Amino acid sequence: MINLISDTITKPTPEMLHAMLQAEVGDDVFGEDPTVNALETKAAHLFGKSAAMFCPSGTMTNQIAIKMHTNPLDEVICDENSHIYQYETGGFAFHSGVSIQLLKGNYGKITAAQVEAAIKPAYDWLPTSKLVVLENTCNKGGGSYYTLNEIEPIHRLCKSKGLKLHLDGARLFNALVETQESPLEVGALFDSISVCLSKGLGAPIGSLLIGEQDWIRQARRFRKVMGGGMRQAGYLAAAGIYALDHHVGRLKEDNDRAKIIGQVLEHYLLWSTSDLLLPILLSST
Ligand SMILES: *Cc1c(COP(=O)(O)O)cnc(C)c1O
Repeated sequence: MINLISDTITKPTPEMLHAMLQAEVGDDVFGEDPTVNALETKAAHLFGKSAAMFCPSGTMTNQIAIKMHTNPLDEVICDENSHIYQYETGGFAFHSGVSIQLLKGNYGKITAAQVEAAIKPAYDWLPTSKLVVLENTCNKGGGSYYTLNEIEPIHRLCKSKGLKLHLDGARLFNALVETQESPLEVGALFDSISVCLSKGLGAPIGSLLIGEQDWIRQARRFRKVMGGGMRQAGYLAAAGIYALDHHVGRLKEDNDRAKIIGQVLEHYLLWSTSDLLLPILLSST
């Protein structure tokens, strides 16, 4: 039996475990874990940014980004199905004291026109629109994804209106293996990016927050206050380095298999009242 509940249940391969065992480590709270530093440098370069920070989870990287980009009484604009709204325990209110403006996107995807219409005028009685968060791929959108063409107008709008733009890229590499676009191009469009190593990339733990150096230096204080300062985290970072080196391309296989499952389920919905279901299920796998 294959458990398809989520790609979060993936486990390290023997090769990844081997890389973890070989890791050189130090105390990362002092910035002295060479393997964590190597992972952070690698991730920053990949996206054309000057720094990155390794965190225990994608919830933490997203929450630190919201905290960094906003002040209390500000507002975050995102799709109503966003992970930051649905699945992070309302942390935007708890950690950052901000409110949220939800948009009705298309399978989790929002447009520049929708964002523009949602930006609030500067009145005392309104929260201040400050941050836009996109999710790529969109988890609750059934794995829908943005192309750079779709993101660029949102990037331009945010620039012209003085809004920050954060990417919840938990499964960004699943999108990039489909579009054949590069992380460098993505990096140029966002102020900050979060990616998960612990989903389809197969690392046991870990996410990265990527941005510019001064910004990440400040973000490290919020990681610490949230309890995310880790010591010999290089054993985990080694899994992340291995994942970025060896598992990104393989996400295409996951995507292709997910499409087959999608097709089978579509047939199931069409034919579920008939006797045709079984032969279709058998012929499609
Ligand atoms: C998994 C996920 C996260 C982070 O989740 P953690 O379990 O905290 O690592 C963030 N955003 C999206 C879209 C996700 O799917």
